[in-house]
Amino acid sequence: MRSYPDPHLLNADLHCHSNVSDGKLSPAELARVAHENGVRVWALTDHDEIGGIAQAACAAKALGLHFIAGVEISVTWANETLHIVGLNVSPDDNSLLHGLASVRAGREARAREMSGQLALAGIEGAYEGAMKYVGNPDLISRTHFARFLVSQGCCADVSEVFQKYLTPGKPGYVPHQWATLTQAVGWIKAAGGQAVIAHPGRYRLTDLMMHALLEEFKELGGEGIEVVTGSHTVDQYARFAKVSLSYGFKASRGSDFHGPGESRVALGALPALPDGCVPIWHDWNME
Ligand code: AMP
Ligand code: MN
Ligand code: MN
Ligand code: MN
Repeated sequence: MRSYPDPHLLNADLHCHSNVSDGKLSPAELARVAHENGVRVWALTDHDEIGGIAQAACAAKALGLHFIAGVEISVTWANETLHIVGLNVSPDDNSLLHGLASVRAGREARAREMSGQLALAGIEGAYEGAMKYVGNPDLISRTHFARFLVSQGCCADVSEVFQKYLTPGKPGYVPHQWATLTQAVGWIKAAGGQAVIAHPGRYRLTDLMMHALLEEFKELGGEGIEVVTGSHTVDQYARFAKVSLSYGFKASRGSDFHGPGESRVALGALPALPDGCVPIWHDWNME
């Protein structure tokens, strides 16, 4: 058993993406960067896909880095897209595998429609262009379109592309129906994992709707929320630390790293969880 003086001081990074979804690095490269940056417990959480887990686990083992198999599932709830992270999922579970395949299935048609919309806005060949950035043909995402648009000089960076083209109301945005919250939590639990609401501060929900989401998630067996994430401001760390305590959720921590130059926070480079939070890893066996 490894011993850590205080679970709050453990450098756990439980949210990031490889090129199996919309990250830039391979799972093995991410393991190396996590290790170099002092991460002690690391999870790979690709969008709607666990195809990178085997490579990540193998690379982490060689480095002596404790690895957690994870996933980030796209959900539609109350007309809003939410992300639910699953941690400690079994990558062989059929319910999870089939569920994720069903979520991925709509991405191809959505990408073609996005491309059509972008063509109407004067940007030709976006589907083919985005595909050049795709590492896994099963998982074309808005991020790949954003990288292509940057390469064409349409915008200075990925975040400007999202603002101008890829968010609701903008010319390249195509609404999409993802999994239900019930399905996502159900698949994660069927695979023996813990469900965690990713970056709750990012959702455009009123306080009342946020309350409804947290209650429903709890009812379904959700166990945690991200408190310290690359997507939150310092004020949001404090807000969601309070939320985790008042609703009885454990707190998670993850950079949401997508690659060098594209992420606000590097792997492992986050502050500790605020005092009082119960870390999602507090009862994990880290042998
Ligand atoms: P998709 O699942 O194809 O809708 O793509 C979602 C991904 O787009 C997220 O996981 C982020 O990586 C990226 N994304 C969403 N909004 C933004 C934004 N405003 N700026 C940069 N990246 C974003
Ligand atoms: Mn992403
Ligand atoms: Mn997300
Ligand atoms: Mn993410």
